[in-house]
Amino acid sequence: MDVYGLMGNPVGHSLSPPMHEAAYDELDVDARYVTFEPDDAGAAIEAARTLGVRGLNVTIPFKEDALAHVEPDDLAARIGAVNTIDFRDDATPTGHNTDAEGVRRSFERHDVALDGRTAVVVGAGGAARAAAFALSDAGATVRIANRTVSRAQSLADDVPGATADGLDALADLLADADALVNATSVGMEEDRSPVPKGALHGDLAVLDAVYRPVETRLLREAAECGATTIDGAWMLLYQGVAAFELWTGRSAPVERMNAVLRRRL
Ligand code: NAP
Repeated sequence: MDVYGLMGNPVGHSLSPPMHEAAYDELDVDARYVTFEPDDAGAAIEAARTLGVRGLNVTIPFKEDALAHVEPDDLAARIGAVNTIDFRDDATPTGHNTDAEGVRRSFERHDVALDGRTAVVVGAGGAARAAAFALSDAGATVRIANRTVSRAQSLADDVPGATADGLDALADLLADADALVNATSVGMEEDRSPVPKGALHGDLAVLDAVYRPVETRLLREAAECGATTIDGAWMLLYQGVAAFELWTGRSAPVERMNAVLRRRL
Protein backbone atom coordinates (compact mmCIF):
# COMPACT_ATOMS: atom_id res chain seq x y z
CA MET A 1 0.00 0.00 0.00
CA ASP A 2 1.27 3.49 -0.89
CA VAL A 3 1.07 6.34 1.60
CA TYR A 4 0.41 9.94 0.61
CA GLY A 5 -0.39 12.80 2.92
CA LEU A 6 -0.69 16.43 3.88
CA MET A 7 1.59 18.28 6.26
CA GLY A 8 0.59 21.59 7.79
CA ASN A 9 -0.69 23.06 11.00
CA PRO A 10 -3.57 22.83 11.56
CA VAL A 11 -4.80 20.17 9.12
CA GLY A 12 -7.64 18.69 11.18
CA HIS A 13 -10.40 20.10 8.96
CA SER A 14 -8.64 19.47 5.65
CA LEU A 15 -10.75 18.22 2.76
CA SER A 16 -7.76 16.66 1.01
CA PRO A 17 -8.01 13.20 2.67
CA PRO A 18 -11.59 12.47 1.50
CA MET A 19 -10.90 13.99 -1.93
CA HIS A 20 -7.77 11.88 -2.57
CA GLU A 21 -9.19 8.71 -1.03
CA ALA A 22 -12.25 9.03 -3.29
CA ALA A 23 -9.84 9.02 -6.24
CA TYR A 24 -8.01 5.91 -4.93
CA ASP A 25 -11.36 4.18 -4.47
CA GLU A 26 -12.60 5.12 -7.94
CA LEU A 27 -9.43 3.91 -9.70
CA ASP A 28 -8.62 0.97 -7.39
CA VAL A 29 -5.34 2.52 -6.28
CA ASP A 30 -3.98 0.72 -3.20
CA ALA A 31 -3.16 3.83 -1.17
CA ARG A 32 -4.05 5.90 1.90
CA TYR A 33 -3.87 9.67 2.42
CA VAL A 34 -3.03 10.82 5.95
CA THR A 35 -2.42 14.15 7.71
CA PHE A 36 0.65 15.26 9.68
CA GLU A 37 1.14 18.27 11.98
CA PRO A 38 4.92 18.44 12.39
CA ASP A 39 6.93 21.18 14.11
CA ASP A 40 9.59 21.44 11.43
CA ALA A 41 9.24 21.14 7.65
CA GLY A 42 12.76 19.82 6.95
CA ALA A 43 12.63 17.11 9.62
CA ALA A 44 9.16 16.04 8.47
CA ILE A 45 10.20 15.80 4.81
CA GLU A 46 13.26 13.72 5.73
CA ALA A 47 11.14 11.46 7.97
CA ALA A 48 8.55 10.98 5.22
CA ARG A 49 11.28 10.06 2.74
CA THR A 50 12.81 7.57 5.17
CA LEU A 51 9.42 5.98 5.84
CA GLY A 52 8.68 5.54 2.14
CA VAL A 53 5.86 8.08 1.86
CA ARG A 54 5.21 8.52 -1.89
CA GLY A 55 3.93 12.07 -1.91
CA LEU A 56 3.10 14.96 0.40
CA ASN A 57 0.93 17.99 0.02
CA VAL A 58 2.15 20.96 2.01
CA THR A 59 0.00 23.72 3.48
CA ILE A 60 0.28 26.66 5.89
CA PRO A 61 2.74 27.33 7.53
CA PHE A 62 5.26 25.13 5.64
CA LYS A 63 4.84 26.00 1.94
CA GLU A 64 7.81 28.39 1.86
CA ASP A 65 10.02 26.42 4.31
CA ALA A 66 9.58 23.24 2.26
CA LEU A 67 11.33 24.84 -0.72
CA ALA A 68 14.76 24.51 0.88
CA HIS A 69 14.33 20.75 1.43
CA VAL A 70 13.32 19.68 -2.09
CA GLU A 71 14.43 20.08 -5.69
CA PRO A 72 11.83 22.61 -6.85
CA ASP A 73 10.60 22.66 -10.43
CA ASP A 74 10.77 25.96 -12.32
CA LEU A 75 7.26 27.10 -11.36
CA ALA A 76 7.63 26.32 -7.64
CA ALA A 77 11.00 28.11 -7.63
CA ARG A 78 9.48 31.20 -9.26
CA ILE A 79 6.49 31.21 -6.90
CA GLY A 80 8.79 30.58 -3.93
CA ALA A 81 6.52 27.94 -2.41
CA VAL A 82 5.89 24.21 -2.64
CA ASN A 83 2.51 22.59 -2.04
CA THR A 84 3.28 19.14 -3.49
CA ILE A 85 6.33 16.93 -2.91
CA ASP A 86 7.09 13.83 -4.95
CA PHE A 87 9.27 11.15 -3.33
CA ARG A 88 9.06 8.56 -6.08
CA ASP A 89 12.74 8.69 -6.97
CA ASP A 90 15.44 7.77 -4.47
CA ALA A 91 17.13 11.09 -5.19
CA THR A 92 16.20 14.39 -3.55
CA PRO A 93 12.41 14.80 -3.41
CA THR A 94 11.01 17.17 -6.03
CA GLY A 95 8.83 20.16 -5.14
CA HIS A 96 5.90 21.49 -7.17
CA ASN A 97 3.20 24.14 -6.84
CA THR A 98 -0.16 22.83 -7.97
CA ASP A 99 -2.03 25.87 -6.56
CA ALA A 100 -1.04 27.61 -9.80
CA GLU A 101 -2.42 24.67 -11.80
CA GLY A 102 -5.56 24.95 -9.65
CA VAL A 103 -6.04 28.54 -10.79
CA ARG A 104 -5.33 27.78 -14.45
CA ARG A 105 -7.63 24.78 -14.65
CA SER A 106 -10.43 26.55 -12.74
CA PHE A 107 -10.58 29.20 -15.48
CA GLU A 108 -10.26 26.54 -18.18
CA ARG A 109 -13.14 24.53 -16.68
CA HIS A 110 -15.32 27.64 -16.96
CA ASP A 111 -14.23 28.33 -20.58
CA VAL A 112 -12.49 31.57 -19.62
CA ALA A 113 -9.65 32.47 -22.00
CA LEU A 114 -6.66 34.18 -20.39
CA ASP A 115 -4.20 34.63 -23.27
CA GLY A 116 -3.96 38.31 -24.17
CA ARG A 117 -6.41 39.31 -21.41
CA THR A 118 -5.95 41.52 -18.35
CA ALA A 119 -6.25 39.92 -14.92
CA VAL A 120 -6.37 41.60 -11.51
CA VAL A 121 -5.07 39.68 -8.48
CA VAL A 122 -6.12 40.96 -5.06
CA GLY A 123 -3.57 39.92 -2.45
CA ALA A 124 0.18 39.32 -2.37
CA GLY A 125 0.57 36.25 -0.14
CA GLY A 126 1.09 32.62 -1.14
CA ALA A 127 -2.18 32.15 -3.03
CA ALA A 128 -1.67 35.45 -4.85
CA ARG A 129 1.85 34.46 -5.94
CA ALA A 130 0.52 31.18 -7.34
CA ALA A 131 -2.36 32.98 -9.11
CA ALA A 132 -0.13 35.73 -10.54
CA PHE A 133 2.31 33.25 -12.10
CA ALA A 134 -0.52 31.02 -13.38
CA LEU A 135 -2.22 33.97 -15.07
CA SER A 136 1.03 35.37 -16.46
CA ASP A 137 2.14 31.99 -17.78
CA ALA A 138 -1.28 31.66 -19.46
CA GLY A 139 -0.60 34.88 -21.36
CA ALA A 140 -2.51 37.41 -19.24
CA THR A 141 -1.24 40.83 -18.19
CA VAL A 142 -1.32 40.84 -14.38
CA ARG A 143 -2.29 43.76 -12.14
CA ILE A 144 -1.74 43.20 -8.42
CA ALA A 145 -3.63 45.10 -5.70
CA ASN A 146 -2.87 44.50 -2.05
CA ARG A 147 -3.54 46.14 1.31
CA THR A 148 0.23 46.39 1.89
CA VAL A 149 1.50 47.98 -1.33
CA SER A 150 5.15 47.03 -0.72
CA ARG A 151 4.16 43.33 -0.80
CA ALA A 152 2.26 43.88 -4.06
CA GLN A 153 5.37 45.57 -5.46
CA SER A 154 7.72 42.72 -4.53
CA LEU A 155 5.36 40.23 -6.23
CA ALA A 156 5.03 42.49 -9.29
CA ASP A 157 8.84 42.67 -9.49
CA ASP A 158 8.89 38.88 -9.97
CA VAL A 159 6.06 38.57 -12.55
CA PRO A 160 6.88 39.79 -16.07
CA GLY A 161 4.97 42.97 -16.94
CA ALA A 162 2.96 43.04 -13.70
CA THR A 163 1.97 46.23 -11.88
CA ALA A 164 1.40 46.91 -8.18
CA ASP A 165 -1.18 49.09 -6.42
CA GLY A 166 -3.13 49.44 -3.20
CA LEU A 167 -6.73 48.34 -2.79
CA ASP A 168 -7.91 51.91 -3.49
CA ALA A 169 -6.95 51.40 -7.16
CA LEU A 170 -9.32 48.45 -7.64
CA ALA A 171 -12.10 50.38 -9.38
CA ASP A 172 -9.67 51.78 -11.96
CA LEU A 173 -7.87 48.46 -12.42
CA LEU A 174 -11.09 46.51 -12.91
CA ALA A 175 -12.71 48.93 -15.36
CA ASP A 176 -11.04 47.28 -18.36
CA ALA A 177 -10.07 43.93 -16.79
CA ASP A 178 -11.29 40.54 -17.99
CA ALA A 179 -10.49 38.42 -14.93
CA LEU A 180 -10.27 38.92 -11.17
CA VAL A 181 -8.83 36.62 -8.51
CA ASN A 182 -9.39 37.23 -4.83
CA ALA A 183 -6.32 35.71 -3.17
CA THR A 184 -6.80 37.42 0.20
CA SER A 185 -8.44 35.76 3.17
CA VAL A 186 -11.17 38.44 3.19
CA GLY A 187 -14.55 36.71 3.01
CA MET A 188 -13.38 33.57 4.79
CA GLU A 189 -16.05 32.67 7.35
CA GLU A 190 -17.34 36.26 7.20
CA ASP A 191 -19.70 38.24 4.97
CA ARG A 192 -17.13 40.70 3.61
CA SER A 193 -15.68 41.35 0.18
CA PRO A 194 -12.24 42.81 -0.63
CA VAL A 195 -13.68 44.46 -3.78
CA PRO A 196 -16.30 47.25 -3.80
CA LYS A 197 -19.42 46.05 -5.62
CA GLY A 198 -19.39 49.16 -7.80
CA ALA A 199 -16.06 48.07 -9.30
CA LEU A 200 -17.50 44.77 -10.61
CA HIS A 201 -19.06 44.37 -14.05
CA GLY A 202 -20.57 41.76 -16.31
CA ASP A 203 -17.50 41.24 -18.52
CA LEU A 204 -15.44 39.85 -15.64
CA ALA A 205 -14.67 36.25 -14.73
CA VAL A 206 -14.19 36.20 -10.96
CA LEU A 207 -12.33 33.45 -9.09
CA ASP A 208 -12.43 33.59 -5.29
CA ALA A 209 -9.69 31.46 -3.67
CA VAL A 210 -11.74 31.47 -0.46
CA TYR A 211 -13.84 28.28 -0.28
CA ARG A 212 -15.41 28.56 3.17
CA PRO A 213 -18.11 29.64 2.47
CA VAL A 214 -18.33 28.38 -1.11
CA GLU A 215 -20.49 31.36 -2.06
CA THR A 216 -18.65 34.39 -0.75
CA ARG A 217 -20.00 37.91 -0.75
CA LEU A 218 -17.62 38.73 -3.64
CA LEU A 219 -19.04 35.92 -5.78
CA ARG A 220 -22.63 36.79 -4.85
CA GLU A 221 -22.11 40.43 -5.84
CA ALA A 222 -20.20 39.45 -8.99
CA ALA A 223 -23.09 37.20 -10.05
CA GLU A 224 -25.53 40.07 -9.44
CA CYS A 225 -23.44 42.14 -11.90
CA GLY A 226 -23.65 39.39 -14.51
CA ALA A 227 -20.01 38.23 -14.12
CA THR A 228 -18.86 34.63 -14.56
CA THR A 229 -18.18 33.26 -11.06
CA ILE A 230 -15.73 30.51 -10.07
CA ASP A 231 -15.69 29.45 -6.43
CA GLY A 232 -12.62 28.44 -4.43
CA ALA A 233 -13.64 24.78 -4.33
CA TRP A 234 -12.67 24.57 -8.02
CA MET A 235 -9.14 25.77 -7.22
CA LEU A 236 -8.94 23.34 -4.30
CA LEU A 237 -10.19 20.52 -6.52
CA TYR A 238 -7.75 21.17 -9.36
CA GLN A 239 -4.69 21.57 -7.13
CA GLY A 240 -5.58 18.12 -5.76
CA VAL A 241 -6.22 16.72 -9.23
CA ALA A 242 -2.80 17.97 -10.38
CA ALA A 243 -1.07 16.42 -7.34
CA PHE A 244 -2.86 13.08 -7.89
CA GLU A 245 -1.85 13.02 -11.55
CA LEU A 246 1.76 13.95 -10.76
CA TRP A 247 2.06 11.19 -8.16
CA THR A 248 0.25 8.38 -9.95
CA GLY A 249 0.75 9.24 -13.63
CA ARG A 250 -2.96 8.56 -14.16
CA SER A 251 -5.87 10.82 -15.13
CA ALA A 252 -7.73 11.81 -11.98
CA PRO A 253 -11.43 10.98 -11.59
CA VAL A 254 -12.26 14.69 -11.46
CA GLU A 255 -16.04 14.43 -11.16
CA ARG A 256 -15.90 11.94 -8.26
CA MET A 257 -13.33 14.09 -6.43
CA ASN A 258 -15.48 17.18 -7.04
CA ALA A 259 -18.62 15.48 -5.74
CA VAL A 260 -16.90 14.33 -2.55
CA LEU A 261 -15.38 17.77 -1.99
CA ARG A 262 -18.64 19.63 -2.48
CA ARG A 263 -20.54 17.24 -0.23
CA ARG A 264 -18.14 18.12 2.60
CA LEU A 265 -18.19 21.90 2.13
P1 NAP B 1 -1.38 34.72 3.14
O1 NAP B 1 -0.11 34.34 2.50
O2 NAP B 1 -1.46 34.90 4.62
O3 NAP B 1 -1.88 36.10 2.44
C1 NAP B 1 -3.01 36.76 2.92
C2 NAP B 1 -3.37 37.91 1.99
O4 NAP B 1 -4.64 38.45 2.43
C3 NAP B 1 -2.39 39.06 2.00
O5 NAP B 1 -2.32 39.62 0.70
C4 NAP B 1 -3.02 40.04 2.99
O6 NAP B 1 -2.67 41.39 2.78
C5 NAP B 1 -4.49 39.86 2.67
N1 NAP B 1 -5.36 40.25 3.76
C6 NAP B 1 -5.53 39.59 4.94
N2 NAP B 1 -6.44 40.24 5.70
C7 NAP B 1 -6.85 41.32 4.97
C8 NAP B 1 -7.78 42.38 5.21
N3 NAP B 1 -8.49 42.45 6.35
N4 NAP B 1 -7.97 43.30 4.23
C9 NAP B 1 -7.27 43.23 3.06
N5 NAP B 1 -6.36 42.25 2.78
C10 NAP B 1 -6.16 41.32 3.74
O7 NAP B 1 -2.55 33.69 2.80
P2 NAP B 1 -2.66 32.72 1.51
O8 NAP B 1 -2.04 31.43 1.81
O9 NAP B 1 -2.22 33.48 0.32
O10 NAP B 1 -4.24 32.46 1.46
C11 NAP B 1 -5.15 33.49 1.07
C12 NAP B 1 -6.55 32.88 0.91
O11 NAP B 1 -6.52 31.95 -0.17
C13 NAP B 1 -7.03 32.10 2.14
O12 NAP B 1 -8.40 32.35 2.32
C14 NAP B 1 -6.81 30.65 1.75
O13 NAP B 1 -7.72 29.76 2.38
C15 NAP B 1 -7.09 30.72 0.26
N6 NAP B 1 -6.45 29.63 -0.50
C16 NAP B 1 -7.27 28.83 -1.23
C17 NAP B 1 -6.74 27.81 -1.98
C18 NAP B 1 -7.67 26.95 -2.78
O14 NAP B 1 -7.23 25.89 -3.25
N7 NAP B 1 -8.92 27.34 -2.99
C19 NAP B 1 -5.34 27.59 -2.01
C20 NAP B 1 -4.52 28.44 -1.25
C21 NAP B 1 -5.10 29.46 -0.50
P3 NAP B 1 -1.32 42.01 3.45
O15 NAP B 1 -0.19 41.60 2.56
O16 NAP B 1 -1.59 43.46 3.44
O17 NAP B 1 -1.23 41.43 4.85
